[in-house]
Amino acid sequence: MATFANGRAWVTAALALLILIAQLGWQQSAAKLQIVATTGMIGDMVQRIVGDRADVTTLMGEGVDPHLYKVTVSDVRALADADVVIANGLMLEGRMGDVFAKLRRRGRLVIEAGASLTQTQLLHSDGSHGHPDPHIWMDPTIWSQCAAHVADELSVRDPANASLYRANVAALGREWIDADRAIAQAIASVEPKRRVLVTAHDAFAYFGRRYGVEVTGIQGISTESESGLDDIRRLIDLLVTRNVPAVFVETSVSDKNVLALVEGARARDHTIIIGGSLYSDAMGEAGTPQGTYTGMIKKNAHTIVAALGGDAHRLTTSPAESEGNTK
Ligand SMILES: [Zn+2]
Repeated sequence: MATFANGRAWVTAALALLILIAQLGWQQSAAKLQIVATTGMIGDMVQRIVGDRADVTTLMGEGVDPHLYKVTVSDVRALADADVVIANGLMLEGRMGDVFAKLRRRGRLVIEAGASLTQTQLLHSDGSHGHPDPHIWMDPTIWSQCAAHVADELSVRDPANASLYRANVAALGREWIDADRAIAQAIASVEPKRRVLVTAHDAFAYFGRRYGVEVTGIQGISTESESGLDDIRRLIDLLVTRNVPAVFVETSVSDKNVLALVEGARARDHTIIIGGSLYSDAMGEAGTPQGTYTGMIKKNAHTIVAALGGDAHRLTTSPAESEGNTK
């Protein structure tokens, strides 16, 4: 069976050829803007901004880990046909950097949502080698600024629809302010010493900063990093001394380390439960409330607040919100 010795070279060559073919056929199909979004959170944001004025294809679905994601054969086709590619950036899509560079060299617009954030807005964690934490969607006020940046860039590229993009992004901002308030109120109902969030990897630092929750991931800000026995021991100490009742698994990351933590705490006579499954780097199933950004962050906060003993009733998602991204 033939194998490709160098996967990157293959992607680059295929992309170059397909872009050439797309450019040759471009004049006939110049109607709607063709947009490719990387993660589900980006796809949902962009779909809400453009409505039916552009076609949006999202590469990463439910449960997919963006840190480890590699471009597939069908992605190469979609990327070559795209007028605009919209990514989270900040190296979240760690293995797509070469593809973005290639697309830019070919004159494609690649928008990175995180590019508009200032150094004071960005978080840096230990062991991130100077790179900012890319999990910026975990704070709806920060994500709102990212959406405004994406809408601005799209308006420059597609001025005919600029007023619609600006109106849609303003409505999104209002929706996220409401979600932000509901989350803050629910977190405030958790006993302060129990406002501790332990998850499989360090995806919730922006959430923690926004809502005053101490956050620790067993793995670092990328799932490519390794966690050691010392990390597990340190976390068990934290859970026991603070009498934290629950830890959380994530839908896009293996639960192996979290289960080791629960076992370790039990060995020290501290009973801890899995408080639920959080949507960290991927949203839930399409067509459900947690398949949208707003539903996802509210669902996460609901899971966290309920497991830590707070009052989560304000965060119950209404059926209307699950239809939010189909407008
Ligand atoms: Zn992550």
